[in-house]
Amino acid sequence: MAVCREDGWAFGPGGGCQGGSGGSFPQIPKVDIGGSCQWAGAMTSRIVESMTRRPSVALPAAGVMTVIPLENLRIHTYEAPETAVYVNSHIIETEKRLVVVDTQLLRPHAEEFRRYAESLDKPIDRVIITHSHPDHWFGCEYFRDAPIHALAEVADGIVGGGEAMIQAYAPIFGDAITGTVTAPEHIIRPGTETIDGVTFAYEKAEGAEAGVNLVIEFPESRVLLAQDLVYNRVHVFLQQKEMGPWLAHLGRYMEKEYDYVLPGHGLPSNKQALADMVGYLEAAGSALAASSDVPTLKQHLVGQYPFYRGDYILDISGRYLYGA
Ligand SMILES: [Zn+2]
Repeated sequence: MAVCREDGWAFGPGGGCQGGSGGSFPQIPKVDIGGSCQWAGAMTSRIVESMTRRPSVALPAAGVMTVIPLENLRIHTYEAPETAVYVNSHIIETEKRLVVVDTQLLRPHAEEFRRYAESLDKPIDRVIITHSHPDHWFGCEYFRDAPIHALAEVADGIVGGGEAMIQAYAPIFGDAITGTVTAPEHIIRPGTETIDGVTFAYEKAEGAEAGVNLVIEFPESRVLLAQDLVYNRVHVFLQQKEMGPWLAHLGRYMEKEYDYVLPGHGLPSNKQALADMVGYLEAAGSALAASSDVPTLKQHLVGQYPFYRGDYILDISGRYLYGA
């Protein structure tokens, strides 16, 4: 299936790939219908409505917001719960505008994230999608009123592979994922751009977590929005055994000075997250060389990183690495 190509992602049992029944799936907490979180309460009507296309997994609780206040901008990060692999969406809040980066996998989270953006009471200038994995763009349907931007390769990946990704996820998540492809229509070119007085420096990083990844630097604020080049204390999606290009990108960023590093999965951090990621990928390289199946790979990496969340991401990786 097309979704099994390099930039696809497939989750859990029956995820659509060859041998897709072999993976395990996390124990997911049930939704607390009377949830105490202010955002969780409002998401329940959609969940109830969605039962006509019933997901095969229990739907998740609400995400976690982190806010970093800086001199000329505030950065808001929404981290999804376990079911959605702790994926992050960010809002770069300038004086008068909001720039949204990535839009979540599941509808309840995308909707909740959109509502949070509304609460900031500023216009959404644009949405930026960093790469074509579905956990970063399925939620674009909640941002159709804003221009959606991406690198050309990322936009092409979504246009060409989006439908197959939706079909692969529908048996698991039912109506909790989008039913239509909402693709970026505006192309980002590497280089710098000023939005409402803030410099965005765009870099294209190839051969890392996805084939093509957008990395955004905010030089005046010493912030690196690394997105999926960095997972912070979350097990990493590995789709290839060669870690060289990915490590080379991280090595370049390690040489620069940043006060904050924003990962694609796991909570916002600082340069320690870059160093940790280098260590993890080096360990992954050794573990991959010593493993020919997922249980052995997990034994190595979970053994070395027992406090990291999301070890089922290694099961997902196994489909790409070992075909089962
Ligand atoms: Zn991701």
